[in-house]
Amino acid sequence: MRLEMSSADLNESDIDAVVAVLRSGRLALGPKTVEFESAIADYTGVKYAIAVSSGTAALHLIVRALGIGLGDEVIVPSFTFAASANAFLFEGARPRFVDIEAETYNLDPEDVEQQITPRTRAIMVVDVFGQPAEWEALEAIAAKHNLLLIDDCCEAIGAEYRGKRLGAFGQAGAFAFYPNKQMTTGEGGIITTNSEEIARICRSLRNQGRDEMGAWLTHVRLGHNYRITEMSAALGLSQLKRLESFVEKRAQVAHQYRQALADIPGLKTPFVRSGVRMSWFVYVVTLPEGTDRDEIIARMDARGVAVRGYFAPLHRQQYMKPYLLEDRALPVTENIAARSIALPFHNNLSRAEIDYVAAALRAALLNEGP
Ligand SMILES: *Cc1c(COP(=O)(O)O)cnc(C)c1O
Repeated sequence: MRLEMSSADLNESDIDAVVAVLRSGRLALGPKTVEFESAIADYTGVKYAIAVSSGTAALHLIVRALGIGLGDEVIVPSFTFAASANAFLFEGARPRFVDIEAETYNLDPEDVEQQITPRTRAIMVVDVFGQPAEWEALEAIAAKHNLLLIDDCCEAIGAEYRGKRLGAFGQAGAFAFYPNKQMTTGEGGIITTNSEEIARICRSLRNQGRDEMGAWLTHVRLGHNYRITEMSAALGLSQLKRLESFVEKRAQVAHQYRQALADIPGLKTPFVRSGVRMSWFVYVVTLPEGTDRDEIIARMDARGVAVRGYFAPLHRQQYMKPYLLEDRALPVTENIAARSIALPFHNNLSRAEIDYVAAALRAALLNEGP
């Protein structure tokens, strides 16, 4: 048996949707992109959605639309994917990395508030592994200190905080559709916002800085080519129709994992706060203190189970060194990151496969052969 980390849930309707675009001959800047945007806006409950070529592109355009750049500081968790911080580095803004809560692995609001300086412009909120961050506390901090809030909800489509879908929080949100996410467009991402101004600027920036009404070779600002293809938009539309069932299937897989792993001593399974709807992106467990994580990963791999350390803290990455404002320890982040691993996780993981992973992890922790 060989179990991979993730697997996209593709069916004949998805394939037909992409083939239909190819047959139509309209491969870019067409009706599927417009339709996908309005479907995502409806789903998340916002006025505007702007589809782009990746989640990273979505984050980058939000930062540019908000005018965050040289001389600005921003608050970013270190326990996240690199794009959450890189979106600011591209524009010359400097991140102040903050620690996470020991239970949810989301931003610790207390540490956020302590790291605010007169230069701070924004907080990058990340809803880690599909669990909504502490939005009430973060919104209060942002209001008190007059800061912008950006939601990197790339791992959390379908999640809700107190009955409200993610994507509708802060000035703007970014979703991502790489094949390991809850739903996929191959490559792709989307910006969600209620701001007409942010929407207008992002539409222009993704399309080489053109104005919506302007001539093809007239550029009103320095833009990018961050457009999505019609094939991707059509796949996204088709996947979105099944997203609710995907979120439910993933919750079921997570539930079965919790049961299967319950009797492993010292193993910490994910904690989900009350008042939120989790949209499971990955299933991350935290190994007992003092475990050699790399050794466990190797033993699991030898049993045919792909697992991965999740995350590698950004403030300790080599490439980040020149950008760090201070060399500050983040004790919770460093402790958790050294012990957390993502197990194979997708919509259609069977009970037998889940049991196999649990048995492999139990054996790896006890170092039982083979
Ligand atoms: C997936 C992801 C992104 C965006 O990734 P792309 O590969 O650019 O689509 C951004 N932030 C987080 C936290 C993610 O998990």
